[in-house]
Amino acid sequence: MVIVGAGNAAMCAALSAREQGASVTVLERAPENQKGGNSAFTGAAFRVAYNGVADLLEVVPDLTTAEQENSDFGEYTQSQYFDDLARLSQYRMDAELGEILVSDSLDTLVWMRRYGVRFVPIYGRQAFKVDGRFHFWGGLTVEVSGGGRGLVDSLHAAAGRQGIEILYGARAISLVMDGQTTTGVKVIKDGHFLTLEADAVILASGGFHANAEWRARYLGENWDLAKVRGSRFNTGDGIRMALDVGAQPYGHWSGCHAVAYDRNAPEFGELDLLGQQKNGFPFGIMVNARGERFFDEGADFRNYTYSKLGKAILEQPGGIAWQVFDQRVAHLLSDEYRIRQITRVEAATLEELAAKLEDVDSTGFLRTVAHFNASVRDTVAFNPNVKDGRSTDGLETPKSNWANPLDTPPFIAFGVACGITFTFGGLRIDSDSRVLTPEGDLIRNLYAAGELVGGLYYVSYPGGAGLMSGSVFGRRAGAHAARGC
Ligand SMILES: Cc1cc2nc3c(=O)[nH]c(=O)nc-3n(C[C@H](O)[C@H](O)[C@H](O)COP(=O)(O)OP(=O)(O)OC[C@H]3O[C@@H](n4cnc5c(N)ncnc54)[C@H](O)[C@@H]3O)c2cc1C
Repeated sequence: MVIVGAGNAAMCAALSAREQGASVTVLERAPENQKGGNSAFTGAAFRVAYNGVADLLEVVPDLTTAEQENSDFGEYTQSQYFDDLARLSQYRMDAELGEILVSDSLDTLVWMRRYGVRFVPIYGRQAFKVDGRFHFWGGLTVEVSGGGRGLVDSLHAAAGRQGIEILYGARAISLVMDGQTTTGVKVIKDGHFLTLEADAVILASGGFHANAEWRARYLGENWDLAKVRGSRFNTGDGIRMALDVGAQPYGHWSGCHAVAYDRNAPEFGELDLLGQQKNGFPFGIMVNARGERFFDEGADFRNYTYSKLGKAILEQPGGIAWQVFDQRVAHLLSDEYRIRQITRVEAATLEELAAKLEDVDSTGFLRTVAHFNASVRDTVAFNPNVKDGRSTDGLETPKSNWANPLDTPPFIAFGVACGITFTFGGLRIDSDSRVLTPEGDLIRNLYAAGELVGGLYYVSYPGGAGLMSGSVFGRRAGAHAARGC
């Protein structure tokens, strides 16, 4: 069996296929030191359904008694998870795929743990301490120790132990077919073309976020200007290979996950330079070049709004914005606001700050802040752990929660642009991850998992579902393909 890609979805597919006795070759386009695609860039947060701490203990068995006493993990039920996926997709999600993602999620993490992936609670990013206890919020509770690299290293180490072969610098370019049956893959490696025969091929080579031409073609005007947060190797190869043999394009092809990202960040993600995203916007305000607000920063927990913010920024004049905070909330900003490679200004007064906001109309900015400050409903208490309802009153662009007047210097501001994370459009699969044609027929022996699967996310996306879906459908693909081999 051949698996195209060596990120999370691919490696889960490989381990699952091997478990069923298949002999597996993994093709990784990247050199070894850049292996693992977008998965290696992640914070490795997994969105998993759980009914309280007893379920969590199956995934995080080394949770100490003290941690359990000091933390309110709450619950994130299967129906909450399904509802979040459905709501954020504006009820367009493929319900069958969504149901599988949700119902397999806990069991799949327990399975990954058996292969040495170590999960821990996300204390740093998904919990605030209130009255001495950590309260988790946003439906996102566990991450992999060591982040994305920890995840990829654990999966690759497990693959090594299981005798799974990985070819680096090996780019799959097309599928070999016998009629409607997949029989192999053509590959370019070290300047040579190879043909690998295979009983089954699993495509897990990510979406097309790193392909500027496809971005302009499918996402629209100026998307070729977006900065790429993650891997430079996800250029849509697997999607193209499958479409070339008759697969159905599926999902939200003009949609993607894109966030607020440092405006001076490099064009592609670099594994040694993480933290360029800027997700603390619910606690401040954002202004565009006219000095105007353009986004309800407090519409929901950031996990539910951050993935559409990149698009909103790209649509602003010049494709830039500034996030502005004061000392009431500066302590709530996470480490991504404290890295060295950052576009940051600070000032003792709002007037001084206005002059430092590059490309922003100062008068417009000061007017916006004055109106904003006057509109805050300060009779409602500020509480970052819940949607506190502390909103603005009467603004054209409201701030629905966590509104605080900007009045406590020094003021700090961060220059951001659009950083694309991954694309939503892809291939159509069935419940066993088999690739389908527009007629609903199977392309025999062809499977797909991970980012290149369409139909799960439309418009927006709940953080942590990407890795989880790669694991769930990768595991299913591997098991099913191996049984057929
Ligand atoms: C900065 C960042 C942070 C993120 N944080 C999270 C998070 O915390 N939680 C979460 O759920 N999601 C997160 N995501 C999204 C997440 O990365 C993806 O949903 C997930 O990693 C996709 O996994 P995948 O295995 O499908 O693709 P990838 O991990 O991207 O793997 C694709 C693989 O295919 C290889 N490849 C591409 N083309 C070819 C070819 N022609 N031949 C051979 N190999 C090829 C690539 O090199 C790579 O190895 C984040 C993304 C980024 C960029």
